[in-house]
Amino acid sequence: MYPLLEINLSKLKQNINALQKKCSEWMLEPVAVTKGFCADYKITDLLFDAGIRLFADSNLSNLLKLINRFGNKAHYQLIRLPMKEEIETIIKNQIIPMVSQLEILNLFSEKAKQSQAQSSIILAIETGDGREGFLPEELLENIDQIASLDNLSVIGIGTSLACLSGVLPQMSTLEELSSLRNQLKLFLRNPHLFVSVGGTTFFSLWENSHHTPKVDQIRCGEAFLFGSDISRKRNLNWLQQGAFHIEAEIVEIKSKKPDSSDRGFDAFGRACQTSCEKKYPRKRALVAIGLQDIDDTQLFFEDRNVTIIGATSNYLVLDCEESQHDYRIGDLVRFQAGYGTVLRAFLSPYIQKRYIE
Ligand SMILES: *Cc1c(COP(=O)(O)O)cnc(C)c1O
Repeated sequence: MYPLLEINLSKLKQNINALQKKCSEWMLEPVAVTKGFCADYKITDLLFDAGIRLFADSNLSNLLKLINRFGNKAHYQLIRLPMKEEIETIIKNQIIPMVSQLEILNLFSEKAKQSQAQSSIILAIETGDGREGFLPEELLENIDQIASLDNLSVIGIGTSLACLSGVLPQMSTLEELSSLRNQLKLFLRNPHLFVSVGGTTFFSLWENSHHTPKVDQIRCGEAFLFGSDISRKRNLNWLQQGAFHIEAEIVEIKSKKPDSSDRGFDAFGRACQTSCEKKYPRKRALVAIGLQDIDDTQLFFEDRNVTIIGATSNYLVLDCEESQHDYRIGDLVRFQAGYGTVLRAFLSPYIQKRYIE
């Protein structure tokens, strides 16, 4: 049944082993981020069997799924700031959340006290992406209050880069985190306070230097899933690409001449432009898969002479005018899938999954 997502488990396994090896050389503990594949058990089992014991996800439901699988044999981090309603479940399941607001720290302390539990948390630190986190000075100003919260232990500090604004990590990012760690260690009386960075974009700091400041954990998904670092548009040469493919069927093939009159916006409200440089009519293939299932900018077609024109919620449109291949109705087309596509494919009930060894 099509469309389908094909998952190459042996490639993923090799990537996970390579990641473990590099991380141990660099004295980093990898935290496997599972949000890109809904914490699918086939993949999380590979991670666990390879020795990964730290999992992180931005969705609480995925973490509960993991806890159901691995119980107290692993540790679980919630890397999207928690909603208030999630706090009790987080404490009850001993999940480690990232927190960036005093009010939320207070709530964790309060709720943990009520249920006579202990809550361990990671303080999120803003280092330039403009997304989440305490500013270092804001933390230091309030540190006495944080240190005095009952039933709450700060076990680490964590930062994220290249997510929202594409800000790339620098050595100075790690130096600042290191110095913040040293200060907080004293104030919080926790000599084991760890530093966690993410995601994959941070690997370049170890690849390019032998004098990287001490970091304990690196949270990554893209690295072992895709072997790439999208923030620098590059592949990681110690990892493999192409573990995920999409296959879907051509349901129309015709020559098309789009009307060149005034353009408004497409079905998703995006502005449309006429491409004037091309001579119409041109041969187009409509494929039975759409934005509900994939991200058309994160799909890579094997036939280089075919271009992806775009997608609607349920069609993907290809320009095959210049291809040597004679595409026919009913043919299957195959694409290498990037992060955005795999993320949606796992969330879409319309996509079948095929695991290959
Ligand atoms: C998604 C995410 C990561 C993992 O990023 P990759 O680029 O997939 O390696 C790390 N940390 C946080 C907070 C995230 O949301």
